[in-house]
Amino acid sequence: MSVGETRAEMETVLKSFAPLYRDDKPRFLLGVGTPEDLKIAVENGIDMLDCVLPTRNARHGSVWGADSEKIHLTNEHFANDGGVIEEGWDCYTCGQGFSKAFLRQMFKAGDPLGGTLASIHNLRHMMRLCEGYRNGSMDS
Ligand SMILES: [Zn+2]
Repeated sequence: MSVGETRAEMETVLKSFAPLYRDDKPRFLLGVGTPEDLKIAVENGIDMLDCVLPTRNARHGSVWGADSEKIHLTNEHFANDGGVIEEGWDCYTCGQGFSKAFLRQMFKAGDPLGGTLASIHNLRHMMRLCEGYRNGSMDS
């Protein structure tokens, strides 16, 4: 595979290779950066991933919510939203109280702080998903 297949094609290939992996070797998949793709990869034996998507999307104002839904912080809807991306989350961005209105303003002003704070949130989101698999709460 290379980056560019559909999600269904990626899943088909991963399922076909999963029984062939050696248990004593790490399994790496490059270019998997969405929560949906992470789920498919991990559930088919992949244990290391790398992708620019969580930070690239974040730098453009797109973050993932608690259910991995996309939230576009540049949306006018957030202009006066004093809430954080996800209340009670342990990422620095949410934990320190950076509001969606503040983040939106950073993006509108072209301040790179918005992208940095959104990246921190998205990377923590991906880490939380991986932690869920490690502790067994994400097993299907
Ligand atoms: Zn957060």
